[in-house]
Amino acid sequence: MFGKNERKNNTKHEIIKYICKKIFMSILVVGTVAFDAIETPFGKTDKIVGGAATYICLSSSFFTNKLNLVSVVGEDFPESAINMLKSKSVDIRGLQVKKGEKTFFWSGKYHNNMNTRDTLETQLNVLEKFNPIVPENFKDSEFLMLGNLMPSTQKKVLNQMNKKPKLIVLDTMNFWMDLFMDDLKKALKDVDVLTINDEEARQLSEEYSLVKAAKVILSMGPKYVIIKKGEHGALLFNNEEVFFAPALPLEEVFDPTGAGDSFAGGFIGYLAKTNDTSFKNMKKAVIHGSVMASFCVEKFGTQKLTEINQKNVDDRINDFVKLVDF
Ligand code: AMP
Repeated sequence: MFGKNERKNNTKHEIIKYICKKIFMSILVVGTVAFDAIETPFGKTDKIVGGAATYICLSSSFFTNKLNLVSVVGEDFPESAINMLKSKSVDIRGLQVKKGEKTFFWSGKYHNNMNTRDTLETQLNVLEKFNPIVPENFKDSEFLMLGNLMPSTQKKVLNQMNKKPKLIVLDTMNFWMDLFMDDLKKALKDVDVLTINDEEARQLSEEYSLVKAAKVILSMGPKYVIIKKGEHGALLFNNEEVFFAPALPLEEVFDPTGAGDSFAGGFIGYLAKTNDTSFKNMKKAVIHGSVMASFCVEKFGTQKLTEINQKNVDDRINDFVKLVDF
């Protein structure tokens, strides 16, 4: 049984958890939960747990404990990885586990400068016939993060919400642009923020200049566009303003996989925590996204994000503030 002090601490912990549940906004996260095989100049991994939604949830979990996941895996996906997500307060009732099927698999190889990568293989597996079902209690989530996934699937999730969420953020990549550009353009009409990397922004807009590209993308529907430039930071645009945040200069970058998703998780997590979607607050959210991405790249896969604690995050935010203060 618990001693008096432990009982007191447990009660305190429960009360804090209860208050947090009451005050934090909920985020519905959709995206891949996957196996990845990664090669960088520093090493190589066999199948490890990855996926856009995995990185987003891990990153957002530092800002809210109301995370609702909609995704799909095969029966080969380890129970331990699902438990890891549960331990980060991720509600996995929207995670379908398909008997007799295989989990989405992606493999990629980075070049020496780590800013460019080649996709070596994408096996859609369970994604091919994925029909997302948003559980009833997720349909009122205040924030919606449409992580990297087939654009028609992203749209199906959006269509199941009871009301328009306070903010809808969509992330995508060249793979889906190559295959389903029209579906992507349809999905973009309904979103508030698009996060995309520089090459993808050029592909989507058919403009080389990122300023021109942002203008074209804003005319497609989103009110804000964030263009991620890897180690060169990120740009946030709306029709009137632009904001630039550098990436934190790091001594060691081992594996950039998931950096974009960790950025998105930190970005939407901070907005949900503060419940403020003004441009001014989005600038702070971009900094929080950059902080989460900076952790992600320091080890292979999701490892670093599972090791850090709240103090590490807070300290790094302070480092960031010092970096840009003059
Ligand atoms: P990022 O480095 O942020 O672009 O994200 C890398 C993650 O995206 C990896 O964990 C992959 O499993 C996942 N991924 C790769 N290709 C796709 C795709 N076509 N659709 C959805 N997720 C993908």
